[in-house]
Amino acid sequence: MVHAIRIHQTGGPEVMKWEEVSVGEPGPGQVRLRQTAVGLNYIDVYVRTGLYKNPLPLIPGMEAAGVVEAVGPDVQDIKVGDRVGYCTGGTGGYAEARLYPADRLIHLPDGIDDQTGAAMLLQGLTAHYLLHRTFPVKPGQTILFHAAAGGVGLIACQWAKAMGATVIGTVGSDEKAELARANGCDHTIVYTRENFVERVKQITDGQGVPVVYDSIGKDTFYQSLDCLSRLGTMVSFGNASGPVGAVDIGILNTKGSLFLTRPSLGGYVATTKELRDSANDLFAAVLSNKVKIDVRQTFALKDAAQAHIALESRRTTGSTVLLP
Ligand code: NDP
Repeated sequence: MVHAIRIHQTGGPEVMKWEEVSVGEPGPGQVRLRQTAVGLNYIDVYVRTGLYKNPLPLIPGMEAAGVVEAVGPDVQDIKVGDRVGYCTGGTGGYAEARLYPADRLIHLPDGIDDQTGAAMLLQGLTAHYLLHRTFPVKPGQTILFHAAAGGVGLIACQWAKAMGATVIGTVGSDEKAELARANGCDHTIVYTRENFVERVKQITDGQGVPVVYDSIGKDTFYQSLDCLSRLGTMVSFGNASGPVGAVDIGILNTKGSLFLTRPSLGGYVATTKELRDSANDLFAAVLSNKVKIDVRQTFALKDAAQAHIALESRRTTGSTVLLP
């Protein structure tokens, strides 16, 4: 038996209970992992509240790092003692140990410790596909990235800057603005008090930006469209303020023949090769100091409810790790 955070009904942070669960032996294609660090992500909130539907009861959590302690039949390239991380195989992460499909594991290189690994995979691979594949950012372009001081935001803004972009980041406070400027943002907008459409127009001499990366959803979606230049791309990739809901596609015509996409990481790393190639690009960016991974908060795993409260009330910055 091991301990895990389990939810029996969706709801507020209080539905997360620290319970004993059995793990069992790995089946074909599986390994058993002893987890040393668990990544906190905004998707964990959507799972807990029921915005993203899953069968109950469940153990939340998409991401962790740890050591392989048992290997099932038909596992090719993972062995007992390997140090690995993961972020794309579904829920079950908030646990001291668990079973996991071997073909969704990523070896952690020397130079990436377990806490860093657990902090960076989901947010870093997201920043990777957004900037390189959804809308490939070119040197000299000016981009708008919302929640620039958050987990995905701090990584993406550093990376975009290293790729030669001018980065405009929105943030919820002056302290977050300072942090974002130290991590790749050329311009910051405190969107809780400033009109970000006007500021983007000012910064770009009225032109607007070719791409907006918007994970805020309901509160920012339509204003984000107003920040785009003609033929611009709206990348709506999250719902921190609530889902956007139905959109009348005619609006894309009236605002300048815009493009709209609603991507998710799973769609970009569906094969083991895509997953591991993308992870190698991410590790290279971190190990060459293009991108620093900042674990800015840690909580005991059993206190995951406190971590969710901090994340939802916009009190975290950068990445957060839960320690089993
Ligand atoms: P963050 O650390 O960025 O936390 C969310 C941030 O959103 C907050 O810190 C806050 O920053 C901002 N925010 C704005 N309005 C609200 C609100 N009403 N309630 C709460 N937060 C708000 O989280 P992550 O880095 O884990 O994830 C960032 C976003 O990216 C999430 O929306 C997540 O769902 C999405 N995501 C999408 C993926 C995909 O593939 N589609 C994959 C990974 C993440 P501030 O105070 O500065 O406004």
